[in-house]
Amino acid sequence: MHIEVKELEKHFGAFQAINKTSFQIEKGHLVGLLGPSGGGKTSILRMIAGLEQPSSGEIYFNGKLANSLAVQDRGIGFVFQNYALFKHMTVFDNIAYGLKVKKLKRNAIKERVFYLLNLMGLEGKENKYPHQLSGGQRQRVAFARALAPEPQLLLLDEPFAAIDAKIRKELRLWLRNLINEFGITTIFVTHDQDEAIEVADQIIIVQKGTIEQQGTPWEIYNKPASAFVASFIGESNKLDVPISLTGFPELSDYQNDGKWNSDVQILIRPEWIEVRPENTSNLKFAGHEGTVKHVHFRGDSWLLEIEITNNTKLFAYQAINQKVFQPGEKVNLLIHQLSVFTPSETRVLENRAKIDPMPIYI
Ligand code: ATP
Repeated sequence: MHIEVKELEKHFGAFQAINKTSFQIEKGHLVGLLGPSGGGKTSILRMIAGLEQPSSGEIYFNGKLANSLAVQDRGIGFVFQNYALFKHMTVFDNIAYGLKVKKLKRNAIKERVFYLLNLMGLEGKENKYPHQLSGGQRQRVAFARALAPEPQLLLLDEPFAAIDAKIRKELRLWLRNLINEFGITTIFVTHDQDEAIEVADQIIIVQKGTIEQQGTPWEIYNKPASAFVASFIGESNKLDVPISLTGFPELSDYQNDGKWNSDVQILIRPEWIEVRPENTSNLKFAGHEGTVKHVHFRGDSWLLEIEITNNTKLFAYQAINQKVFQPGEKVNLLIHQLSVFTPSETRVLENRAKIDPMPIYI
């Protein structure tokens, strides 16, 4: 189902929870609504579900105005964080619930329930009760129950929040495959940026009742539209003190008398910084010198804290299979790109050495 939300607003008394919000969701896409607590994600989800009426604005399903449709007529399946399974019913009856409401024949119900049990990896669990299952299994039953009546839209509100970190990671991949299999439009509310980046086709960043950015996970990560998005998603180095960085002559436009112009923020992702041992690479000519101050092991990489001037330290990553630096070691580093945010523009600056490669750099 294609979803369009136009100038949606929600007031709770004098408080404006959602502020003229518009976005579209393509049919079959999995969209993550991501943002800090209280930003308005659940309010948007509840209005799409019909559990809450918008104060103004419109919601269209496949081009048809849906504002006044009753919840049960919207063709929506829900999965919430707290499973919300019927405790006194078996797994079979939980999954069959929506099908019985739709008055399907017994054989058709049985066929659909066993198809879903199989798809969810829950074979043999049909006679168990929810308390006899693990958290991950219960949540898979909740998905099976939501998908049984063949909804056109699946709404997920922090579906994995109550599950252990390790199982949650497995469930992310499982969810992605499930959505591919069903091709069902899905909106997924989460606080967890890794979860959204890993599973979503599109991410909508919601903050203070407005949409900061909508884009693919790659766009949100690499071309953040605001300093808020850049600092909310992924890690960033913030340059508090103006310095001249080799390869970024444009930075001088943003500084005056040893300060950044007001409202300028310069952010550099750690992974945009390449670090090499001192004097052993051509980075010496295109980059900066620095001293490794701290080295932190992250399991899948090293996090290096590198001082490039008295006032500026930068965090960078080093792949686990590359040289292990020690504190005190001198290094050369190349900043491949950085983001500049002002109230009127967002710029991604690429290092000049990459745009006009110096023979020495290549
Ligand atoms: P969380 O991630 O913590 O669930 P959220 O991004 O989903 O947050 P919402 O639950 O949509 O945010 O809430 C947005 C704002 O609206 C919050 O400030 C919240 O306190 C307020 N709000 C939500 N529901 C109501 C309500 N029924 N009455 C009054 N205020 C409400």
